[in-house]
Amino acid sequence: MSKEKKACDLCGLTVEVSGFTLKLKNGEQKDFCCEGCKGIYQMLNDDQILAE
Ligand SMILES: [Zn+2]
Repeated sequence: MSKEKKACDLCGLTVEVSGFTLKLKNGEQKDFCCEGCKGIYQMLNDDQILAE
């Protein structure tokens, strides 16, 4: 198993804190470094994001 950290799906920075995650309708999961990146991605891809 890999312990490598993920890169933010918006800005590419290393994700230091988990929990800023979005699930897409196609089953993908997106991880972000901060609430800001998550919010921007959510705004830009609103139609693809699975509502919780
Ligand atoms: Zn980011």
